[in-house]
Amino acid sequence: MEPIATVAPPYWLLAELTYRCPLHCPFCYNPVGYAAVRDELTTADWLRVMREARALGAVQLGFSGGEPLQRDDLEELVGAGHRLGFYTNLITSGVGLTAGRLATLKTAGLDHIQLSFQDSTRELNDFLSSTRTFELKKKVAALIKAFDYPMVMNCVLHRHNLPHVDRIIDMALELGAEYLELANTQYYGWAMKNRAQLMPTRDQVRAAEQVVADYRARIGKRCRILFVVPDYFEDRPKACMGGWGAVFLGVAPDGLALPCHNARDLPGLDLPNIHEASLADIWHHSHAFNAFRGDGWMQAPCRGCPEKTRDFGGCRCQAFMLAGDAAAADPVCAKSPLRYKIDAAIVSATTAGRLAPVEHPIVFRTDANSRVASGLGSAAQNTLGR
Ligand code: SF4
Ligand code: SF4
Repeated sequence: MEPIATVAPPYWLLAELTYRCPLHCPFCYNPVGYAAVRDELTTADWLRVMREARALGAVQLGFSGGEPLQRDDLEELVGAGHRLGFYTNLITSGVGLTAGRLATLKTAGLDHIQLSFQDSTRELNDFLSSTRTFELKKKVAALIKAFDYPMVMNCVLHRHNLPHVDRIIDMALELGAEYLELANTQYYGWAMKNRAQLMPTRDQVRAAEQVVADYRARIGKRCRILFVVPDYFEDRPKACMGGWGAVFLGVAPDGLALPCHNARDLPGLDLPNIHEASLADIWHHSHAFNAFRGDGWMQAPCRGCPEKTRDFGGCRCQAFMLAGDAAAADPVCAKSPLRYKIDAAIVSATTAGRLAPVEHPIVFRTDANSRVASGLGSAAQNTLGR
């Protein structure tokens, strides 16, 4: 495939430092088969990746995972990113963020921290993460404020915590959050595996939207609340990643370069590894980063659609998961002949106007369950849990 003639540089580099994480969220966006991924990049590898990304033109640098605090070279990497001129962001569950580490990260030049909660109640937070971390997260939130960082909270929403949206906002206000991201579950990775267990009803989503609107009117600029409507409940897809190979460059723990978080699960993509090519080469010339750039790859109905410059045909991973073809229109789109699959998933969440019971237990993101998913473990491990 010929590369697109002029390709703007990536805006941000997402360094997925590790798939290790002490939490076990059933909506985790990591690949379900992460247990098969070995050989994390070394500190020297990451330093090279950051230098090359900055030389390419990237300005934002996110450290995520898994839990990036599992890496004991995080402080060194943050310092290097800062000296290179990146705006650095730590995306964390808070587990491992002690006062000592925070002080070192601050000195190293860390600009921004995003702290995730699973719910406003200890019971649900600890159930969903499969850990006792609720009180610890609250302490970490206070530490973040004490170190004079803006408090940026994130909470993934689904059928279990959508009715708590008011309490989640109250908690964010109590903790002094300046920014709260209420991100409805997107169904990739572990969330797709648990879609029936997580899918809300339309009424739940509408009610939560109204609660958010009421709070916004009441609290003004005290805390900015972002409510990301689940794309299943819209009739147009989101402009995934701001366009394929347009602004986002992810690097996975083993060095695979990713045009989107879930690209590892797309068949037929020859994903490049940073061990085999420079980032510039990967960004400009690799098959994977050019596969869905521009609109030359599009089929009907996207090809002739006036909206293709706005949403780029939606999400390639969703197209593959639901249409079996990564180049199809995202089935979320009302113009897709497969929209009925989305509607069926929404309808299945409801029985006689109430949440439908779900037959299968939640599959938590655990090493044992990941080994099963990647063919490395037996089905028996799946029921043993963590
Ligand atoms: S979503 Fe949960 S399990 Fe996945 S990396 Fe984040 S904290 Fe860990
Ligand atoms: S047909 Fe394709 S380009 Fe048009 S709105 Fe739907 S997904 Fe977007």
